[in-house]
Amino acid sequence: MRKSQTGRGQVLVLYEAEPAELADLNSRQCDIIPVSVCCLSRIGHTDLLHSLASGFDVIHMQVCASEQDIPHQRREVELVQALGGLGRVLVFDRDTGLSRRLAASVFPFPSVTPDVLAMGSRRDTARASAAALLPASMDRVSLPDQAPYGSISLDEELCNHCSSCVWVCPSDALSFTENGCELSFVESQCFQCGLCITICPQRALSMEAAMDLSAAAVLPHLLAGRNDNLGNVEETASGPVQAEDPS
Ligand code: SF4
Ligand code: SF4
Repeated sequence: MRKSQTGRGQVLVLYEAEPAELADLNSRQCDIIPVSVCCLSRIGHTDLLHSLASGFDVIHMQVCASEQDIPHQRREVELVQALGGLGRVLVFDRDTGLSRRLAASVFPFPSVTPDVLAMGSRRDTARASAAALLPASMDRVSLPDQAPYGSISLDEELCNHCSSCVWVCPSDALSFTENGCELSFVESQCFQCGLCITICPQRALSMEAAMDLSAAAVLPHLLAGRNDNLGNVEETASGPVQAEDPS
């Protein structure tokens, strides 16, 4: 990243309609990298998180041209704020312009080593970028409702093992263990579509938007009520099993 050579702040500017003042911006004390985007509604939280985790200090993004795209853009920015980009993605409208925004820019953010490669799925990239941006001590972060990451909890007393949730899950996040007695769940595969909640005849399932940043997120664990299952699971060749009670 150029920042390691120049020591100057790195600012990414994303726009559909070129801001009038763009030509004058390079005299400032930071490096401004303008990028013309054909459709800003296609810029999602993964793109923004990966840009921040790759060394950009701040991203200025023009508001979407279409009114109906603005709520989606706002949700994506909120997601980035929650996943380590707090205060680092700023949306500017076409009338107020960019100059005032940039004049107020400060760069209190520490540089992030640009070692987050866009490998695997976009979800993998978002998770790796969030892990790079958030403090290392943070294993789990709560997210706004409708975020496409999160956990599922089960009320075991209500579940009648009908399998409906397993069959309806479009991402194979849910499955039954080999003995068919217990539900297993992989958090990194769940995008919180809610189909399992809707189809469950017993209303035994609930979900919570969050991102697990630990390695456990990609492993199957037995589904149970929240706090009953986390950290109490080990993996075997035949599938996940509950760890023995040490007492
Ligand atoms: S919310 Fe959707 S993706 Fe997640 S476990 Fe339920 S059906 Fe599968
Ligand atoms: S749909 Fe509900 S009752 Fe059926 S297996 Fe899933 S959690 Fe249990």
